[in-house]
Amino acid sequence: MNPPFDKLITGVDTKWLIENKRLAPYEYYAPTLVDTTGLRTVAGDYVASDLERLMNERAIYGNVIESYKRFAPGERAICYCVSVEHARATAGAFSEAGIPAEFLSAATPPKQRREIMEGFRNGAFQVLCNVGIISEGVSIDEVSCCILLRPTESIALGIQQMMRCMRYLPGKTAKIIDCVGNYTRIGLPDDDREWSLSEPVRKRRELSSEGNFYLRCCPECYMTFATAPVCPFCGSAYPLHPREIQAKQEIELRKITAEEAARVAQIKKAARVEQGRAASFEELVKLGKQRGYKNPAFWAAKVMRGRRS
Ligand SMILES: [Zn+2]
Repeated sequence: MNPPFDKLITGVDTKWLIENKRLAPYEYYAPTLVDTTGLRTVAGDYVASDLERLMNERAIYGNVIESYKRFAPGERAICYCVSVEHARATAGAFSEAGIPAEFLSAATPPKQRREIMEGFRNGAFQVLCNVGIISEGVSIDEVSCCILLRPTESIALGIQQMMRCMRYLPGKTAKIIDCVGNYTRIGLPDDDREWSLSEPVRKRRELSSEGNFYLRCCPECYMTFATAPVCPFCGSAYPLHPREIQAKQEIELRKITAEEAARVAQIKKAARVEQGRAASFEELVKLGKQRGYKNPAFWAAKVMRGRRS
């Protein structure tokens, strides 16, 4: 079946939009609070019931609020949750901590939804928790923070959510607080990506050919950046991740094996050249003796037969 469109017009990329003040620059913090390794996937994203269990079972609300206070205190934030119950509980936790918050879901009646959006626009409350309904179509310039609480493997969904706080305002720096490690699966908003009509957007490779993560999260300040020897923001050095250590060992092993194979090939080639120089039967016998063969004459005869055939 042909794709519904046969031309893909790639727009200008996110880096360009930031450099040219169409989008706000951003800081990306990744105080990862949950372990997503056990989650099952279906149709390219996580199973909803797994997400709900993960986000509701762990007592992570306190850490989410601490992260907001640390990285974007007082800023207007959209919180992306995994379920209605999760959105309700998260909004409740913020309100209890003295940070006015509301929540929205697909089940919120239209009139109430309009009122909540109006209140958010006017700054009546700081944090709006929701389940997937503010991924597109909501344009509030003053929103300067996104809190990611929904683990996703979907690049389209993940990037839409991250970028919801990047509408341009002079002097604004967006703060993306990724509590679920989405950057490890889909990268940062302005990574270079290849878009295609016929294939899904290729998932990023996690490790470079040197065995380093492409992106790193500083354990001191949680800033997330392209791999560098020390954190470019706070200057702290960080230890290699066990996965990186393992990858580096495997690469080293492959390198050693390749070097060994090249060395053996070199020796064999030198031996062939040496043998080629021995023109007569007598010279071959002499070479066979030098090489310590048990029966140099037998070997020399075999080589001579091979040359004649
Ligand atoms: Zn740092």
